[in-house]
Amino acid sequence: MTGSDARVRLIIRGAVQGVGFRPFIYRLATELGLKGWVLNSAQGVFIEVEGNPETLQQFVRRVQTDKPPRAFIQSLEQSVLDPVGYTTFEIRHSDESGEKSALILPDIATCPDCLRELFDPADRRYLYPFTNCTNCGPRYSIIEALPYDRPNTTMKTFAMCPRCREEYENPLDRRFHAQPNACPECGPHLELWDEKGVCLAKQHEALLRAAEAIREGRIVAVKGLGGFHLVVDARNDAAVRRLRVRKRREEKPFALMYPTLEMVTAHCGVNEEEERVLRSPESPIVLLRRKEEEAVAPSVAPNNPYLGVMLPYTPLHHLLMRELGFPIVATSGNLSDEPICTDEHEALHRLAGIADLFLVHNRPIARHVDDSVVRVLMGRELVLRRARGYAPLPVLVKEPLPRLLAVGAHLKNTVALSVGRQVFISQHIGDLETPQALDAFRRVIADVKGLWEHQPQAVACDMHPDYLSTQAAHGMGLPVVEVQHHVAHILSCMAENELEPPVLGVSWDGTGYGTDGTIWGGEFLILREQGWERFAHLRPFRLPGGDRAIKEPRRAALGVLYELFGGGAFDLLQQAFTESERRLLRRMLQQGVNTPVTSSAGRLFDAVASLAGVRQVVNFEGQAAMELEFLTHGVRTDEAYPFSLSEGASPQVLDWSPMMQAVLQDIQEGVSPSLIAARFHNTLVEMTVAVARAAGLERVALSGGCFQNAYLTERAVRRLTEEGFRPYWHQRVPPNDGGIALGQIMGGNTASCPHTLTHRQITS
Ligand SMILES: [Zn+2]
Ligand SMILES: [Zn+2]
Ligand SMILES: [Zn+2]
Repeated sequence: MTGSDARVRLIIRGAVQGVGFRPFIYRLATELGLKGWVLNSAQGVFIEVEGNPETLQQFVRRVQTDKPPRAFIQSLEQSVLDPVGYTTFEIRHSDESGEKSALILPDIATCPDCLRELFDPADRRYLYPFTNCTNCGPRYSIIEALPYDRPNTTMKTFAMCPRCREEYENPLDRRFHAQPNACPECGPHLELWDEKGVCLAKQHEALLRAAEAIREGRIVAVKGLGGFHLVVDARNDAAVRRLRVRKRREEKPFALMYPTLEMVTAHCGVNEEEERVLRSPESPIVLLRRKEEEAVAPSVAPNNPYLGVMLPYTPLHHLLMRELGFPIVATSGNLSDEPICTDEHEALHRLAGIADLFLVHNRPIARHVDDSVVRVLMGRELVLRRARGYAPLPVLVKEPLPRLLAVGAHLKNTVALSVGRQVFISQHIGDLETPQALDAFRRVIADVKGLWEHQPQAVACDMHPDYLSTQAAHGMGLPVVEVQHHVAHILSCMAENELEPPVLGVSWDGTGYGTDGTIWGGEFLILREQGWERFAHLRPFRLPGGDRAIKEPRRAALGVLYELFGGGAFDLLQQAFTESERRLLRRMLQQGVNTPVTSSAGRLFDAVASLAGVRQVVNFEGQAAMELEFLTHGVRTDEAYPFSLSEGASPQVLDWSPMMQAVLQDIQEGVSPSLIAARFHNTLVEMTVAVARAAGLERVALSGGCFQNAYLTERAVRRLTEEGFRPYWHQRVPPNDGGIALGQIMGGNTASCPHTLTHRQITS
């Protein structure tokens, strides 16, 4: 074992038992010289292998490409962990003792066998959009109750025809006990509706006419697996613009569905891991670097070097994409940030004025499940939105937990439940800003509690008194544990990396409620067994206008400069504000009215983006920071700006004022925004290195929305490693607020356990 060795844990579910899978794993691991073990359990096949990272990646790829012919993988979960020093590879005895909690599988992308039948004119399911089998098809999106049996799914109203019934009852058939089994005779079917709900065409004719409408540039709402997509020709700029206007979504990138992997690779850079994820049973949206600028209409993802791309994952999508042969925008069927629409009658109402036509079907969707979003970082999957294909698979934690419910934060909300060593994280719910989102939040809580028959002993939530999730938690009649937002981020990262305290957590995001009543977001927290401590933070500054400053980076810039120069800040920001705005802002700052104090790293990104002339007002959360990251592409520099750390004080303060002075100097000298962006990112990384040195702890966990930033995360990992630290980042749980619920569960657990009090703050 060398210092750079790692351990990979795989949990594989599907037709992998009794098909020679364990001997295959044994041979493969032995051939590659990897150590570890393989084990069958009620939860799936567990594998742990140790070795160097390249060989481990090769192992994971070959598990999928070289597997025995009869093995079929429905889900493959991968976590990279610290090595424990295995010396052999062994087949371990089956584990019968595991927690017997019911496992609900996520929805699984169409398998190769079903795909073949779909396009075989001789097959009785030729062109049938609801084809599925034991290895693929809907699961989480159709289950109404457990056990997973047809009468407990939304397929209960479809009586199987004799031929389907025969397949369903034959143990040798691929459709043996395939609960959603169906055929054109007995199963769900398609209809095309106009905006009044009048049926224009049925079955395959409906699909052909929908395709025709898309070709003509119209907007079609398509009912898929876990909800509606709004679909439009991605090459047609006028059509995409029309969708933006109608959906009230100005610049936030749209996701794309491509007909084939070949076309994806023609338009985007795709490495081996990205290809694996694109084609996986999870089939998420993968963020890919575009290489062909003209491949899709400019309005699909304005000023964005990435495209969010997925491949067809249901027979309906395969049929539609084969008919079209070009990429489509396939964005959530909703208005702005509301939850995705799942019912065709509701869609007529909620998507009125957005969609021209509705391609619908009569298989009800039990619960909304959005498309997941993944980015590949340092050869690993980083889940940014956890939904279809991933939810509701549990995250396995080290120690058994009491039965807790966590209600998440405010943005990108998810909720979580703990059962034994498993934490079930709900599908992405969204920002709890609209009545629809709040309804969805309540529905998902009732739903997950019902499915797992879960009676929580306590509920964990954020400390922010104004979060609707916090208020909901206090209204449940259960003991409440409030877990500080940035502590929850770090606990979440620790849980999925199986880290023991003490850990230095770098918790950077836009906004979170601090224990001193100010807005935190540039935090360095030390988590010990006895509790946590705010070891250091970014120097605070005022945000003129509070929440409005989140939408207007120029206000963050003003706050930063006001901290440095007082009223002189206005002279430096002549261009950014009108005369009357300046008057108003000056009064606010002088009198301290509606100017909350923040240590947020996200707002520091905004301030630099504004000063560098990148963006003064954003159209969606995190836009300015994203654009600052994009500017670093292709810039090769290790230069960083100066900063200082006030050692001795508690907590220590990272002073960015020398950096800001240097940024202003650069701007004056006409240094390019790209170089300023790179130097700024590098400075933030050096700040983490400086604090890590001061803290003197080996393990450093990186979490919070800022660590969705690839440049920041990769560089922080590299520099911390060079300096002798062990950095950890997220993998299967989002670094953004979608991962907060897991951290709240961990914090809630330590609260109810007498010897670990990680959630409790120690102040000196
Ligand atoms: Zn299948
Ligand atoms: Zn049938
Ligand atoms: Zn956060």
